[in-house]
Amino acid sequence: MDFSLTEDQQMMVNTAEQIAEKFGPEYWREKDEAEEYPADFLEEIGNQGFFGLPAPEQFGGLNLGLTEVAVVMEALCRGGGGGGPALGYLFGLLGNLSIQHHGNEQQKAHYLPDMAAGKKMCAFALSEPDAGTNSLNIKTFARKEGSNYIINGGKWFITNIQNCHALLLVARTEKPGESKSRAGGISLFLIDLPQEAITYTPIPKHGFNYYKSNQVFIDDLSVDESCLLGQEGKGFQSLMGTLNPERILVAAGAIGTARLALSHAVEYAKNRNVFNAAIGTHQGIQHPLAAAHAKLEAAWLSVLNAASLNDKEPGSKVSGDAANMAKYVAVEAAIEAGYHAMQTFGGSGFAREFHQERWWRELQLFRLAPLTQQMTLNYIGEHVLGLPKSY
Ligand SMILES: Cc1cc2nc3c(=O)[nH]c(=O)nc-3n(C[C@H](O)[C@H](O)[C@H](O)COP(=O)(O)OP(=O)(O)OC[C@H]3O[C@@H](n4cnc5c(N)ncnc54)[C@H](O)[C@@H]3O)c2cc1C
Repeated sequence: MDFSLTEDQQMMVNTAEQIAEKFGPEYWREKDEAEEYPADFLEEIGNQGFFGLPAPEQFGGLNLGLTEVAVVMEALCRGGGGGGPALGYLFGLLGNLSIQHHGNEQQKAHYLPDMAAGKKMCAFALSEPDAGTNSLNIKTFARKEGSNYIINGGKWFITNIQNCHALLLVARTEKPGESKSRAGGISLFLIDLPQEAITYTPIPKHGFNYYKSNQVFIDDLSVDESCLLGQEGKGFQSLMGTLNPERILVAAGAIGTARLALSHAVEYAKNRNVFNAAIGTHQGIQHPLAAAHAKLEAAWLSVLNAASLNDKEPGSKVSGDAANMAKYVAVEAAIEAGYHAMQTFGGSGFAREFHQERWWRELQLFRLAPLTQQMTLNYIGEHVLGLPKSY
């Protein structure tokens, strides 16, 4: 297997690095403190066509694969953005991928060109207060009335809805138990925003304050049946197609963020003198950084392997296995690297001006969302090792 970049991929990475340098750590620190949306950064990556990498050419995209998106994601984070670019880029892509795979021609023509250009964003609303890890437990319900659906319910932690033009909403169209299969009776709706019947309140949170995450209330929302994305009742199966790409891209973002934190720590360890020696002289500082570097390199190969398998055989078991394993090892390696990078800075690691504390907060999210590390282990235990399901 050869994961060296092609000339075109290298050019994309170079461009991503230049953008990441332009919108460097200071930019993201200020945005985080001001809780401000990084509109100018997102516009710039939109202008470069990064949101259109996986979209078909007829809708303004470049028809490229997940590998290209993953290397761009890693470079945007590593080159100066830390976690900041990861969520914005990911959210810009998720709606795009879902519509590409499950939309009808009308939906594709309506949404994809603007989404590929980064001019329209789509928020994703699955989680509810009682349905995070156990997403089949959602209660939000869409009742059919003539040619409309009337939707009622609530969602939890829905990120960036205030800056989105569309919402990919996951709702029940059958009560639990009414459907033949466990995952049946759940449907996807693609809804233009804003809507009077959809209101939201931001949830004050630990990091990633550039993007607000919201409690969402849906009160008698009436939408035409043409808003259905894919088949009624088969929404959960449709979602599966975007879950693997999402895991791979989160893994790429985690690695890029950790590599950035590590590179700052290495510079600091070379230049910070304590007891008349650079702290990087001491093996207590040097070895953890060296070990973190080696683990990030290994994890990055696993991400490239998963991206390449998903490009070659999307939806196959082997590509799903690889995506889950890559997400798990990348996030573990990234958290370990982020921990030692912050420790290298001593007390300064706590100061906002050195950025380590922000990257540390951001790395924690990759552990939790979109899928917790425990759930990736459950997947690997059951589907790769063949162990019995425990829940
Ligand atoms: C900043 C942020 C942004 C988010 N953005 C979005 C968004 O835009 N759209 C959206 O739909 N959701 C979003 N989420 C929600 C996110 O996907 C969920 O928080 C996540 O899936 C975990 O669900 P939960 O918080 O309900 O945890 P719970 O389901 O309550 O789980 C709690 C803990 O128990 C563990 N656990 C549960 N069951 C098992 C088991 N069987 N085996 C082992 N461990 C188990 C979990 O791994 C977890 O550690 C976001 C979350 C955050 C924090």
